[in-house]
Amino acid sequence: MELRDLPSVDELARGADDPLAVEAARRAIDGARAAIRAGEDPGDLRERLEAELASARRPALRRVLNATGVIAHTNLGRAPLAAEAIERVTEVARGYSNLEYDLEAGGRGSRQAHVAGILRRLTGAEAALVVNNNAAAVMLALAALAEGREVLVSRGELIEIGDGFRIPDVLARSGARLVEVGTTNRTRASDYESAIGPDTAVLLRVHQSNFRLVGFTEQPRLEQLARIAQRCELPLVDDLGSGALVDVGDEPTARESLAAGADLVCFSGDKLLGGPQAGVVVGRADLVERLRRHPLQRALRADKLTLAALEGTLALYLDAADRIPVLRMLREHVDTVRARAERLAELVGGEVEETVARAGGGALPLAEIPSYACAVEEELADRLRVGDPPVVAVVRDGRTLLDCRTLSDDEVDEIAQAVKTCR
Ligand SMILES: *Cc1c(COP(=O)(O)O)cnc(C)c1O
Repeated sequence: MELRDLPSVDELARGADDPLAVEAARRAIDGARAAIRAGEDPGDLRERLEAELASARRPALRRVLNATGVIAHTNLGRAPLAAEAIERVTEVARGYSNLEYDLEAGGRGSRQAHVAGILRRLTGAEAALVVNNNAAAVMLALAALAEGREVLVSRGELIEIGDGFRIPDVLARSGARLVEVGTTNRTRASDYESAIGPDTAVLLRVHQSNFRLVGFTEQPRLEQLARIAQRCELPLVDDLGSGALVDVGDEPTARESLAAGADLVCFSGDKLLGGPQAGVVVGRADLVERLRRHPLQRALRADKLTLAALEGTLALYLDAADRIPVLRMLREHVDTVRARAERLAELVGGEVEETVARAGGGALPLAEIPSYACAVEEELADRLRVGDPPVVAVVRDGRTLLDCRTLSDDEVDEIAQAVKTCR
């Protein structure tokens, strides 16, 4: 076929009874033209059109199989939800809900009431508030408690989380003024004490989520900061980043942080907690109330689907935490992961390889979680990524590694099928 033999867009589109046909026909012809120019056979134009129509109908935001071994993978949507959490979402999404309706009183209620109780129970806090993400939680806390005034932060904690979330920028946007204390590697309690002045509104501690400082370093313990804050009658806000609700590696839990004297603790819903994207603030009731009444709260509040997923996830912490996928992946015995890798290797004729998985989401950056992968040919990686369902893997030393810590048993057959289709 030559360029002049190609049909016009209208000709090709005419046969298909589809509102997307013209656009799809244009793409099909563009593709065929490129093939002819490259000296290739453009194939059947009708088939190209069908493929374009199918691709136009496919959702843009899709489920992906995560074979990277990075558990709370930020680019892959962080935490997969537990079945129980998904059930809560479906139930609430299907119809109306008591989102802001008090069923007993028969009048207006608060959307914050639904998860506040269980968050208090799980963290020991007096009160709790949920917003869209932890960046919003930190921003709201600073805006409500320190607008136009000073916030003290250690120079060792002026971090960037990723995608440009920088503590100094968030602070500036909240309307508070940053006062840096100490040095990059060493900050002492006395540095905070000498920086406190009449304009100081908040002591902020930020967990060094995604990196660790080693060597000649010093940071005051949270208890020491809490004593200073209390003596000066200033709130101590602790941004935990990931924030665990149960012991996971050396990641601080919200309960420990409150017990050590933090007045407000902020953490993410979709990192180690294993729930939906959300920002949780727990702590002193009077401070949480100031956040709730701040105008920004209205702009940052979480929606009903998030609250439903969060409630469903938090409920599992009471007696079935291992049903939360993130916790299961973090804690699963390495022999179970190896058995999964062996099964996959058998299905696709790959090799079992020892690997190291990561917590992801900027949590536990140094933790090397023992894992196993099934190694297949290097050239499969690109094809797997654009397959259906897409599989994201890691290429190393000339091979594609399918890490089995971030795959579930149910996904092994799907991956095996995907590999076979790509070959
Ligand atoms: C991840 C992180 C944030 C931002 O949390 P999101 O839920 O992603 O908005 C803020 N602070 C710290 C220390 C973090 O690690």
